[in-house]
Amino acid sequence: MSVDANKDDLLIGVSGAGAMGRGIVQVAAAGGVNVRLFDINADQCKEAVDFIGKMLGRAADKGRMAQEDADAAMGRIEVVADVKEFAPCDIVIEAATENLEIKKKIFAQLEEVVRDDAIIATNTSSLSVTTIASACKRPQRVAGFHFFNPVPLMRLVEVIEGVLTEEWVGDALMILGKRMTREPVRVKDAPGFLVNQVGRGYNIESQHIQHECVADYVDIDRILRDAAGFRMGPFELLDLTALDVTHPATELIYNQFYQEPRYRPSSVMRARLEAGMLGRKVGRGYYVYEDGKQIVPDEASAPSYDGRPVWISKVEAEGHNKLAEIVRACDGKLDTGDTPGADSLILVTPIGEDISTTAAAQGLDPARTLGVDTLVGLATRRTVMTNPATEAEYRNAAHGLLSNDGVPATVIRDCPGFIGQRIISMICNIGCQIAQFGTATPEDIDKAVVLGLNYPNGPLKFGEVLGASNVLRILDALYRFYGDPRYRPSPWLRRRAMLGLSLFKTEI
Ligand code: NAD
Repeated sequence: MSVDANKDDLLIGVSGAGAMGRGIVQVAAAGGVNVRLFDINADQCKEAVDFIGKMLGRAADKGRMAQEDADAAMGRIEVVADVKEFAPCDIVIEAATENLEIKKKIFAQLEEVVRDDAIIATNTSSLSVTTIASACKRPQRVAGFHFFNPVPLMRLVEVIEGVLTEEWVGDALMILGKRMTREPVRVKDAPGFLVNQVGRGYNIESQHIQHECVADYVDIDRILRDAAGFRMGPFELLDLTALDVTHPATELIYNQFYQEPRYRPSSVMRARLEAGMLGRKVGRGYYVYEDGKQIVPDEASAPSYDGRPVWISKVEAEGHNKLAEIVRACDGKLDTGDTPGADSLILVTPIGEDISTTAAAQGLDPARTLGVDTLVGLATRRTVMTNPATEAEYRNAAHGLLSNDGVPATVIRDCPGFIGQRIISMICNIGCQIAQFGTATPEDIDKAVVLGLNYPNGPLKFGEVLGASNVLRILDALYRFYGDPRYRPSPWLRRRAMLGLSLFKTEI
């Protein structure tokens, strides 16, 4: 069995002309593939064709596409009034309403109509491809073909193989994906597939951090944007995607993994969902929106540094050296004694541990001790961390000192792994577990996450930047502190970190 996805007269069908169906039709037609489009609601097809015409027209006006190519693409789209018109299609992509019963019905109808060697693919974002295929007579030709919204702008497509999907099916979809000018990535069926699994690390962990009153949403957003390099903070992202989309998807992934603690949703997210604080679309989420504009609370200005001596712990030699350089650049007066002077501000640079644990272990006066994250954001936004004993004058001194050279600093409460170390380690650990399960190759995991989530690095590259052994230390410390299996390191990470190997190294 095979479909020659390279052939000139390849014909595909798209069932469902909503937000996704119309995007899929647009990129297929623009890529030179003939498409038939069907929707149970005929008006949707008409609207979709008008919409695609406008989008391609705009691309031509802006010089991104020749007018004749836009016209040719429109000529490749044919609206059909009956599913039976899909009979000659080589590949049909189902992009209908996200409902298992509807999808099963569509697949049963399609199987009646298409050739035995035609491929039927689903664009579902949360249902199991294997479950959908299990209702089919020929599950071996069923796969997932998961595009991202808005399709013309998001180049990633996940090609998902269910348990029974045969290899030629994935091969053909990889070729079709490329013809549609996408970047296809091959993934084995798993809850959340690849990209939506990794996305949980960012938004749920941030929510847990806020729930613990470590920092409020706006400061967490600032740290992850400025210090860790994410284009959007987790809370502004949650507001954009809307809680009524994100929270149910999170619950689903958690339950499909039989309550895997790494994906455990936040009770605060459910409460906010029930309160209707859905996000941007209703004008109120974590932020308030006035006339569509996000209202961002002002950042309090830093107090001025009072000039007191600064003693930096040498237990973490690298952290000590990096921080000493910053303190000098900030005109701080270094206390170089073996132990801190009576009045000195004490700074520590833990990796994974919180400040209470660090101060207790090193026998330091907790009232004067604060921590600085030296792994994430030293040059762009510094994170300064207190502990329950910290006195205000020392907090203010540290805040003033560390922003004295014009780089902003954010003060947070005690938290193992600060915010940057903790979030990046969670993302890296999920990526490592996806590699361990063989869901996708290490290179594809990173490629999919960068393209699908716009993260500055893929999970494994993030780990390499922080240092795999540091990520392991951070997760071990989180696990020790909370006793929560949520933080247990993936075997993929632990083995490579112990052996000093790259996180991209596969086993023979
Ligand atoms: P949508 O509500 O915009 O469109 C769904 C379309 O399916 C509607 O036009 C509806 O009339 C049509 N439909 C319903 N029953 C049908 C049937 N029996 N036969 C043919 N058409 C039928 O939904 P959407 O956002 O385009 O999502 C479509 C699919 O893509 C879902 O499976 C969704 O999970 C997935 N998806 C959505 C996004 C997203 O961000 N919107 C991203 C990735 C994947």
